Amino acid sequence: MRMKNILVLIFFTILNFDAALADRKVALVTGSVSGIGLGIATEMAKTGYDIVLNGFGDVDKAVAQISAFGARVIYDDADLKDPDQIGNMFRKTMDTFGRLDVLVNNAGIQYVSPIEEFPLEKWNDIIAINLTAPFIAIQNALPISKARGYGRIINIASTHGLVASVNKSAYVAAKHGVIGLTKEVALETATTNITCNAICPGWVLTPLVEKQITDRATQKGTSTEVEKLALISEKHPSQQFVTVEQIGQAVLFLCSPAADQMRGASLVIDGGWTAQ
Ligand code: NAD
Repeated sequence: MRMKNILVLIFFTILNFDAALADRKVALVTGSVSGIGLGIATEMAKTGYDIVLNGFGDVDKAVAQISAFGARVIYDDADLKDPDQIGNMFRKTMDTFGRLDVLVNNAGIQYVSPIEEFPLEKWNDIIAINLTAPFIAIQNALPISKARGYGRIINIASTHGLVASVNKSAYVAAKHGVIGLTKEVALETATTNITCNAICPGWVLTPLVEKQITDRATQKGTSTEVEKLALISEKHPSQQFVTVEQIGQAVLFLCSPAADQMRGASLVIDGGWTAQ
């Protein structure tokens, strides 16, 4: 082959490669270096999404897990308590990928205490991370989605957005707020190709829940195995934990055309908890 033809071939190969990359959808998943967020990011990477990871923990392991599926991945260390850092995370996403298709508001924290002893600082942290951060993230995402004419916003709420459990005042208040916020965003975007829905998981065995099991075992002088069984028996008629893969698949469903007219819905995945 003549040199000129070879150069033309290389040029179009690069062009096609860039076009192929530009076709890939981008998902930003908050709190995604562990637990449910990492599970969601992994299921999305498997189906061809590029991923923005966020959260604190073993970042290298999370990046390697996502890259293994051929996804482009960046990590942003935004502390979601800080609105400016959330804004910077969206700017970094656009600077890197030039697009954002899906926002998954997943990051969350828990603290368990009777109301009279509930520290105000813990209340403020839970409201900031579990409720205010999704609001700020949505404020950042909507102009991007509107400019593109497409967006999927998925808020990881909880069964605690629908029902309460004792000693979880801040978490229950925040998660009920997330479900209200989801409906509000869905209405404000109802005539567009942007949807906003929530997922309400029951118990999922992640670091957030493992800590509650360990704390219960310490308080009651039992073992983590005993408390794990007690926890699941109290709430899940199925007697089984929900898996992070199941939550990831639910996110993909909400991003599929089948869910185009799901707007402001709460998808419950809870082993029968709220059916009781
Ligand atoms: P997890 O502790 O494994 O993950 C939480 C993630 O949020 C972590 O990556 C953490 O680093 C990140 N995070 C916490 N504070 C942050 C901050 N200030 N800035 C940025 N990131 C921060 O917990 P998980 O169980 O995977 O929880 C994920 C979401 O699912 C939460 O919103 C939680 O409320 C919800 N949820 C969990 C369960 C469950 O049983 N595990 C059930 C229902 C809902």
